[in-house]
Amino acid sequence: MKRALLLLLLLATPAFAQQLDTMVDQELPSLVATYKQLHLAPELSQHEEKSAALVAGRLRELGYTVTERVGKYDEPGLISYGVVAVMKNGNGPTVYVRTDMDALPVVEQTGLSYASTVKTKNATGEEVGVMHACGHDIHMTTFIGAAKVLAATKSHWHGTLVLIGQPAEEVVKGASAMLKDGLYERFGHPDYVIAFHDSATLATGTIGYTPGFFMASADSVNVTIRGVGGHGASPQSTKDPIVLASQFILALQTIVSREDSPLDPAVVTVGSIHGGTKRNIIPDEVTLLMTVRTYKPEVRKRVLASIERIAKNLALAAGIPENLAPTVDVLAGESCGSTYNDPTLTERLAGALKTAFGEKNVIKTDPLMVSEDFSLFRLEGNQIPTAMLQLGAIPPARIASGERLPSLHSSKFWPDPEPTLRTGVKGMTLMVWELMK
Ligand SMILES: [Zn+2]
Ligand SMILES: [Zn+2]
Repeated sequence: MKRALLLLLLLATPAFAQQLDTMVDQELPSLVATYKQLHLAPELSQHEEKSAALVAGRLRELGYTVTERVGKYDEPGLISYGVVAVMKNGNGPTVYVRTDMDALPVVEQTGLSYASTVKTKNATGEEVGVMHACGHDIHMTTFIGAAKVLAATKSHWHGTLVLIGQPAEEVVKGASAMLKDGLYERFGHPDYVIAFHDSATLATGTIGYTPGFFMASADSVNVTIRGVGGHGASPQSTKDPIVLASQFILALQTIVSREDSPLDPAVVTVGSIHGGTKRNIIPDEVTLLMTVRTYKPEVRKRVLASIERIAKNLALAAGIPENLAPTVDVLAGESCGSTYNDPTLTERLAGALKTAFGEKNVIKTDPLMVSEDFSLFRLEGNQIPTAMLQLGAIPPARIASGERLPSLHSSKFWPDPEPTLRTGVKGMTLMVWELMK
C-alpha cells in the first residue's frame, strides 16, 4: 500500500515527468537513425524478413524473451515473420502492444534525403517501388523506443508485457495468421491490446483517440457479370454483359442512398472494371473488383447481401440464362471487421495521456473509413478490450500553411520523425504504465 502510494506520488510529480522526458530525449538520436534505416529498407506485406529481424534483435538485446516467425498463412509455404517479445514482471495484467511492419508498393516521391529507392517484384512478377507510405516504420521505431524505456523502468509497472510485431497488415492477413498460430495460447491471454497508428492530419506533439467505432470493416468483393458474346453489330443475338455491368454499377448506388440508414456510414466502391477486347465484339463477361466499408456488423451483412441480390436480379431482368447468373465472391482472406475501440479503455488511456501532454494535445477524433486488421485482436464478440490511438506526425507549420496534405498511402506522405517519435515513445510508455501500475 505504502509502495503503491509512493509510486502514485512519484508518477504524479513533475520531476518524474521530466525524468521520462529526459530518458526519451536521450534515446531520440538513435531512434531517428533506426527510423531512417527502416524507412530506407521497406518490405512488402508477407516479405518483412529483415524488418522483423531488426525488431527481434533489438528487443532481445533489451532482455525480452523473443520468438520469431510467429504466424500461419493459408498460403502453403509462405513464412509469417511475426515477432513476439515477452517481459514478465511480477503479478499484474497481461498487456499486448502491437506494431505492424509492412510497407506498400508505392514509388516514393517525397524528395527526402532518406527517401526509399527500393524496387522489387510483386506477387504477379511486376516491378514495383516499395515505400513505408503508411508509417509502419514510425510504429516499429516507437515500439522499440517504448520497449527500451519500459525495460529500464520495471519498478513502474507489473504484470506481463507482450510486444508483437505483426506482418502483412496492408493485406489484412497478419493478425489472423498470428492468432491462428496460437498467439494468445502460447504467450498469454491479454487483458488489453493497444497500438498507435500515425496520422497524416494530426500535428506532431498531439495524440488522437476515438472511443467506439474507429475504423471501418473492409470487404473485397469480386463480381463477374456473364452474358452471351457476339458481333458488336448484332446485339439481338447476344446478351451484353457490358450494358448489364453498367446498370449494375448505377443500381449499386442505391444501396447507400436508399437502403442504408443515413446514420450508418457505408461505402460501396467499384475500383476496377474489365471487359472486352475490341470495339465490335460483345464480350462474354465483365469483371468488377469492389471494396465495401461499414462499421456495424449487421450493416456489413446487409450491404453484402444487397450486392448479390442486385447482381442476380438485374441479370434475370436482362434475360440472362440462369446458368450464367453473375458470380459474387467476398474474399475472406482480404476482408476484416471494423476496428472498435473499447470506450472505457480508450477514455482511460486518453485520461493518462492528457495528464502528461495537456488537454489540448490529446484530441477526440472522428472515426475513419479506412480499415485495419488490428480489429481481429479483440476476438469475436469483443472479448478483449482493445484500443488504437492516433499519433500526430505532421509539422504544425505545414498544417497551418493550409497546403493540401498527402494522405497515408500517398507517395508524398512523410511524418516528421523526431517529434513524432518523441510523443510516440512517451505516449506508449505512459499507456503501458497506466494499465500496469
Ligand atoms: Zn496502410
Ligand atoms: Zn497502416
